[in-house]
Amino acid sequence: MSKLYGGIEAGGTKFVCAVGTGPDDLRDVVRIETTTPEKTFAKVIDYFQKQAAAGNEIASLGIASFGPVDVHPESETFGSITSTPKPGWSHTDFLGTMKNALQIPVAFDTDVNVAALGEQTWGAAQGLDTFMYLTIGTGLGGGGFVNGKMMHGLVHPEVGHIRIPHDLTKDPYPGSCPFHGDCLEGLACGVAMKQRWGIEGQKLPPNHPAWELEAEYLAYALVNFICTISPQKIIMGGGVMQQETLFPLIRKKVKDLLNNYVGSEAVQENIDQYIIPPELGNRSGILGAIAMAKQI
Ligand code: ZN
Repeated sequence: MSKLYGGIEAGGTKFVCAVGTGPDDLRDVVRIETTTPEKTFAKVIDYFQKQAAAGNEIASLGIASFGPVDVHPESETFGSITSTPKPGWSHTDFLGTMKNALQIPVAFDTDVNVAALGEQTWGAAQGLDTFMYLTIGTGLGGGGFVNGKMMHGLVHPEVGHIRIPHDLTKDPYPGSCPFHGDCLEGLACGVAMKQRWGIEGQKLPPNHPAWELEAEYLAYALVNFICTISPQKIIMGGGVMQQETLFPLIRKKVKDLLNNYVGSEAVQENIDQYIIPPELGNRSGILGAIAMAKQI
């Protein structure tokens, strides 16, 4: 019998847990509400133990976690959620708790790096070694690969918190980030959209001026990433990106802002295939976690 693998996509509102081997073989998927670390972890462990008892025993586990997290294997706190503003979750040993309870090898990385791995393994980034995966939802984050490796460094990229131009006469909203106010996340995440317009992003009609402004902020960010990381593709997922109006608006603004400077047909001629939604839809993260478990 072929081996089975486990995945956890841990978010601030829910944990998705799954058992399987890939996109055509996810045998079981469950959603668990994120409460306290103790209660949430207990339910996650119980899930995998019950799966094992039912014959779906996993050989290894991949964790895609919200952050900030410690992604350095040589660090004493590797696999921990570090200084998150989410109450009760700071300095939580995620990887260690799972390893001790399940007694199997566990791999761990950021939710966005792992989603990027999912897209590289089975989705829109197959064959690419330098690309980005961004999620624009309640929060805004990004990761990906550079030269074939997941983006790590001093800690891990925090691309949601870069600074972009903010014209206060056009958009007086001060921004939602508790650390920086009007950083990229503070201006363009789902929470910012709701606070600025008084209505949730998903409920704003496609012709609402909100989308033009949203596209402008995201285009500024993308131009910065294109000029620094030189990604071969940029994949954009998350709740806010479900508004289909956004993609053509962002692509046009990115082209205008680059002004023919970056010498690649990908951005000059084929931008429709360059800035794209995830091919795995909302399963990039959980499938990436399975892919990471398989690599152990
Ligand atoms: Zn910020």
